[in-house]
Amino acid sequence: MTMTPLTLEVENLTIDVPGRRILDAVNLTFTGGKLIALVGPNGAGKSTLLGAIAGDRHPTHGRILINGVDITKRKLVDLARERSVLVQENRISFPFTVHEVVEMGRSPWQGTEQEDNDEKVIDKAIEIADVGHLRTRNFQSLSGGEKARAAFARVLAQQTPIIMLDEPTAALDIKHQEAVLKQALAEALNGKIVVVVLHDLTLAASYAHEVVVVDRGHVVAQGVPADVMTSQRLTDIYQYPISVFTHPETGELIILPQRACPPLSTRSPHTEKDTK
Ligand code: ADP
Ligand code: MG
Repeated sequence: MTMTPLTLEVENLTIDVPGRRILDAVNLTFTGGKLIALVGPNGAGKSTLLGAIAGDRHPTHGRILINGVDITKRKLVDLARERSVLVQENRISFPFTVHEVVEMGRSPWQGTEQEDNDEKVIDKAIEIADVGHLRTRNFQSLSGGEKARAAFARVLAQQTPIIMLDEPTAALDIKHQEAVLKQALAEALNGKIVVVVLHDLTLAASYAHEVVVVDRGHVVAQGVPADVMTSQRLTDIYQYPISVFTHPETGELIILPQRACPPLSTRSPHTEKDTK
């Protein structure tokens, strides 16, 4: 890692689409060594924000700075060595194998000294993402969760100081959700900036150093999980009653929707008579 602390700044970021402002004057500063969870309802602007930070979406106003330098001033290959992105939809148009997809993560390093490590880095990423048994499989034939893990391996193989993951756990089983967040945290503790969009609020609270809440194009809260993720705020943002508990042994936050399900014993199936 570099000796100077890594910084990522989002400065007055506004993104308009015809007839609508989808991000409104967002200001954020992230420093190396932190896992940041981006949470908020569907359509809040999380993916747009990640896309702008990645340099894939152009701001209407504002700038993104990595170590003080505007990303639009960077060459694409330099940007690809600085930040990696796991996008929400893992679309691959050609019948690449999992190994080939992970190998794509190494392309920014072609022609550099790091190229010598390619095979080792690819093997390690494949092992961490637990896709070794899928190595020769056609990516397009994988299940949603398998695709997400292969795409995560590609991001790891890219070995960038800034990692952005858009809903990486949405299709994953519990074991693999924990594995992805555990690895994301390990990368952050290694000095990187890791920004992860999550819908599972308990997962976000457990792993993130910092939570950023996005709602209708605005950052409405930012800070440590216990400060930011209050029942009142989450209930307001999601427009659904949400409870925040503290685990009696570990002290972790447990965040649940309030469910008023009738007890199982009183739940009777609809009979033919009911539906007539
Ligand atoms: P999310 O927080 O769910 O990731 P997005 O950032 O994907 O939300 O989208 C934020 C809002 O902006 C949504 O209402 C989406 O429909 C809208 N949006 C995103 N991109 C475009 C676009 N290119 N044109 C029009 N609307 C868009
Ligand atoms: Mg999204």
